[in-house]
Amino acid sequence: MLMNKNVVASLFALNALLAASAYGGAFDPVVPRWTPKCVFGQPRYAWRGHMLDVSRHFFTVDDVKKTLDLMLEHGLNVFHWHLTDGEGWRLQLDRYPELTAIGSVRKASTKRTTTMGLDVVDGDYGPFFYTKDQIREVVRYAAERGIRVVPEIEFPGHSGAAVRSRPELGCRGLWNCGEYCLGKESTFEFFRNVIDEVCELFPGEVIHVGGDECTGANWKKCADCQSRMKENGLADVHALQGWATKRVALYIEKKGRRMMGWDELASWDDLPRSVIIQSYRGASYGVAAAKKGFDVVMSPDTFCYLDYVQGLEGDPEEYQPFGVLLDVAKIARFDPCADVPEEFRRHILGGEGNLWTELVPDMKGVEWRVWPRLAAIADVLWNGPAKDVPSFMARMQRIRDDLVKRGINAAPLGPLFKPVPDLLPGARYESLKSENGKRLDFAKMLDNPLDFGILRFDHEDKSDSFRHVYATRDATMEKGTYRLDLNFDKISMSAPDDEGFRRGLEQLRALARPKRGGVMEFTGAVIVGGK
Ligand SMILES: [Zn+2]
Repeated sequence: MLMNKNVVASLFALNALLAASAYGGAFDPVVPRWTPKCVFGQPRYAWRGHMLDVSRHFFTVDDVKKTLDLMLEHGLNVFHWHLTDGEGWRLQLDRYPELTAIGSVRKASTKRTTTMGLDVVDGDYGPFFYTKDQIREVVRYAAERGIRVVPEIEFPGHSGAAVRSRPELGCRGLWNCGEYCLGKESTFEFFRNVIDEVCELFPGEVIHVGGDECTGANWKKCADCQSRMKENGLADVHALQGWATKRVALYIEKKGRRMMGWDELASWDDLPRSVIIQSYRGASYGVAAAKKGFDVVMSPDTFCYLDYVQGLEGDPEEYQPFGVLLDVAKIARFDPCADVPEEFRRHILGGEGNLWTELVPDMKGVEWRVWPRLAAIADVLWNGPAKDVPSFMARMQRIRDDLVKRGINAAPLGPLFKPVPDLLPGARYESLKSENGKRLDFAKMLDNPLDFGILRFDHEDKSDSFRHVYATRDATMEKGTYRLDLNFDKISMSAPDDEGFRRGLEQLRALARPKRGGVMEFTGAVIVGGK
């Protein structure tokens, strides 16, 4: 991995060369068939990405260019631009000017109705969007650096801003739940027109359409959606979304492009295999998608979500701690092919470090969360998981110091610790954080008698916004007492009281298997608990 700014010029050439060869010509974006062999001096993964959410908070063309410059320095070659979401539509289109005229403004609110900070603004937020010329400028700037741009335009969920701009896109007579009406043919006409303009603006092959977290709340009640389901023999709203998604995928395919979407999309077996799946709810969904023959980009939240806490004590940027501990030492172990059987590894294109910006209002906050963690992700995408963690950490420390010297607000690497009670006998912890009087503690587990990487605990508290992070992954062990999630390399547990928590731990211990090979990996393990 080349890091030093002195080698930027040569890396520039290398990135461009790799982009040209890997994508079959000058930024012709055909994703190569790839086998995960680590060849010295060549990147292990062809897809080395970074996603920036500009919907929740907006970042200027200059901000984006600065991001691209830093991506180049670290050998990253895919800029995934999250351009639309419920909180703002940021992409100017000729055919639908109201998308930016209305959809790029978030109205001021005095009510703190979410815990994500988005409703607390002084005055309206916006209008903030990119003109078509600005988009072209960014695409060109990226291409010059060997970076291709993957735009993300949501369908059919996360589309509240679009429905706000054009109410006819929602289900008739129902509230704007952020999802397009899939019963009306005009929705598809709209989205085809959007895709047409998006394809003109973005020459790269891949168009990301999101597709995640649809509830179908309105589809269940909407007369148009219901008759659509009846006509097509669709059993439920999940099938309706699959049917609609397939139509969009085939349209994008007909235009010579490939659709990409979040890992829910792999639940529809009849989607064309041109579709690329992006894993985010842990890695297991990506593994399942690869087994079904989809190409996959791995960005499991536990390794790749850069809005997750870094465990920095007294960190002003972590005023609202979110997610599980994700520090540089944890990223050192990130392996997109972990748990992917050999015969399906050709489907794993690479990985991405994703920054959602609900909690990140400015570039200072972006830099703090992204660096040096994105450098760590870049490193493992080039070289594979670190074999020598101390030297990996030393490398990241040098990168961080260099970034800081150049005025970039990169975060320190290591958390500052203090002891917490020994909640799990046999384990040792160092506490990372206690926040907001909510009895939340983050602690690094130094010695882990369990077979699991991450343990999370918090007291039952309806105002605790963390819980939803795991809501889809619950496996109830003893209903009403506590919840337990078993997923990939983590456990999440919540309990109403200390007694419930202790009983949970008992059961965990019963579940735990001794690790093979004697030595346990402690890096990145975290317990979030009361006391
Ligand atoms: Zn409808």
